[in-house]
Amino acid sequence: MVSQKITEISVTPIPAYFPHEIGRNARNTGHGISGIEWLVRAKTDGGIEGLTIANTFLSNLGGNSVDDLLTILKEVFLGIRICDLLEVSNGRVIKPKPGPGRAFRENGWMSILAYDLAGRELGVSAVDLLGGKVRDEVPAYDTTLYFQDLRNPDTLSNGVASVVDEAREAYSLGWRQMKIKVGRGGRWMSPKSGAQRDADVVNAIREAVGPETVLYVDANFGYENRLDLLEFFIKETLPANLGWLEEMIPPSLEQYRELRKIQERLGSNALLVCGEVDRDPIGYVYMDMAEEGVFDGYQPDIVSQGFFRWKQIEDQLEGTNVVSQPHCFGNGNFGTRAALIYGASSKGFISLEDERIAPNVYENDEFTFKNGVYKIADAPGLGLNVDEEIFRRKYSHNEDKIVL
Ligand SMILES: [Mg+2]
Repeated sequence: MVSQKITEISVTPIPAYFPHEIGRNARNTGHGISGIEWLVRAKTDGGIEGLTIANTFLSNLGGNSVDDLLTILKEVFLGIRICDLLEVSNGRVIKPKPGPGRAFRENGWMSILAYDLAGRELGVSAVDLLGGKVRDEVPAYDTTLYFQDLRNPDTLSNGVASVVDEAREAYSLGWRQMKIKVGRGGRWMSPKSGAQRDADVVNAIREAVGPETVLYVDANFGYENRLDLLEFFIKETLPANLGWLEEMIPPSLEQYRELRKIQERLGSNALLVCGEVDRDPIGYVYMDMAEEGVFDGYQPDIVSQGFFRWKQIEDQLEGTNVVSQPHCFGNGNFGTRAALIYGASSKGFISLEDERIAPNVYENDEFTFKNGVYKIADAPGLGLNVDEEIFRRKYSHNEDKIVL
């Protein structure tokens, strides 16, 4: 059978609403009430549609326009047959074909579209193309617990009640893992009071959600140059039994050695995870740290890097004890699906970073969430489909399209 040809590509901005307003973290001034999904739809002459999002390409960092985006999508995908995107052998992707491969190196998110199209044409899940299913359910953590104490100040609880309320809400809706932003002393409070507030928030949430809920923290480097205060924070939160400490300080072999020593001294078993800021993974400093075993989970973004790049990262990490724990914040509902597919195929994967975006443009399907885990359904490609009725009614007037 002849492989189908891509005859139409479109780009549409889709708003992605958080469950509540997202306050500051240690680095930035807050994400507000919504993000965006720059939805890319690619249709073939045989009626298949594949999806990805181009958030990385259109991010504030890049300065690219929708016109630039359509130009590269046209170059890489329009008029191409699906079989000319990826080399598939025994049902697994071996590597991208040379032409698109060059584009995927720079624009990893494009490779997800290729996996989606190939899976749909072959009638297999992208999980299979990635190497096969290693789990039927993928755990997810709520990643929306920011510095709400600074957004909703109240003198009685130092604002802590505001974060605790949101953690309680997440628990009541089924999340059994949550990540709490810390590092207030990096920019927004004096270092000492920031560390104290961090610890107070963590300990109050632990009390509110019970001992079984897994709690992670993420400082976005807010403890840079303050290993003394980091030691204080780890000590104060020992009773909360944290699952991991994320980006407490910038990557550095020496500093991470020190951090491990601090953990040993205090008896902290929390994993150390980092790497979301590594734009060209695996950077030398992270590889040095991985080889020496001073951290445990590596976090470049799932959509920015894309599926093929992530497989290469996993290969590179083989022989170390570092597992894949991709970042996913800012990727909307599409990102959640991409991370689920990846997580279902990756042995070391711990938990999906879940923004808990409200339903927007996609059909409801069998990838359902319950008791802290998403079920992985059997469906071709990513198994994610646009709800045509909703698309037409709410978003189609912002769609930009190119056709063969
Ligand atoms: Mg992070």
